[in-house]
Amino acid sequence: MNVVGHTWAVDLLLNGLAMGRVSHATLIVGPPNIGKATIARVFAQALNCTDGQPVPCGKCLSCRKIVSGNHPDVRILDAPDQALKIGQVRELQRELALSPHEGRWRVAVLCDFERATVEAANALLKTLEEPPSQVVMVLTAAEADVLLPTIVSRCQVLSLRPLPTSSVRKALMKQWGAHPEQADLLAYLSGGRLGWAVQALEDETLLARRDQHLDHLVSLMSQRRVERLAYAADLSRDPALVREVLAWWLGWWRDVLLLVAGSHVAISNIDREAILRKQAGQLTGRQAQRMVKQLRTVNKNIDQNVNLRLALEVLMLSLPSLAS
Ligand SMILES: [Zn+2]
Repeated sequence: MNVVGHTWAVDLLLNGLAMGRVSHATLIVGPPNIGKATIARVFAQALNCTDGQPVPCGKCLSCRKIVSGNHPDVRILDAPDQALKIGQVRELQRELALSPHEGRWRVAVLCDFERATVEAANALLKTLEEPPSQVVMVLTAAEADVLLPTIVSRCQVLSLRPLPTSSVRKALMKQWGAHPEQADLLAYLSGGRLGWAVQALEDETLLARRDQHLDHLVSLMSQRRVERLAYAADLSRDPALVREVLAWWLGWWRDVLLLVAGSHVAISNIDREAILRKQAGQLTGRQAQRMVKQLRTVNKNIDQNVNLRLALEVLMLSLPSLAS
């Protein structure tokens, strides 16, 4: 398994291992699909690789079992959209109390730990405070400050930054066989999250849906109140879709803002530069800024059970009116 970028983080983990200083608890933080779980898996391989090198070979039985999720000593808890519950932590703790079955270390990787219930996090705290000697735990989360401070303080924290666009582009072409033009667009849209770019490469519907959401945004701006309200009502029935739509719209308005401000930072929707420039020419920085702010607020409140339809109606009505 290859990690693209994040060299410092991988080096830190592998060097610690080579020097016999293995941290029992590591927290890897960073945006979704940036490579947190991949690094955790490589670390788990290095801890149990039978090749004897600090860098895991990726070929021995142990390394291969970890990739396929069949290593008895490596437990990866990664259920998207599901909160980690106390029962799962208890079960994990019973496993971790036993010595490794076939490897040198028992490794537990708990992905997106911000979704763990407070009870589950508190239960895990005991293991973090007094980890069994042959146990390594890796937690991942989008941000450290959404976790219990008592959890964070017991972990070695590695913060991953987005990769440079050029690295994502190169990796997409070299390792995933993307065409240059395709690699270019995905690299810019990914915001440095290679995992997302690979997903978009493999699942064409992802970009098709993006096109649909952005087309919709542009046409809504030339539409009247009644059409805008109808769209808000329609959209509000599907919170998951709201999240997806707003994420793309937020990227759009960030681009408009960059262009209005004459920033040197590259826009992300590079395939739609002409229309973005046209809109930027018709809008003020203040308008673009207000849209960015409003989209962020609505996005944050999706989870908090506010009246989603009302929030979306306000949002649709505040979209500037532009002829398409
Ligand atoms: Zn190996």
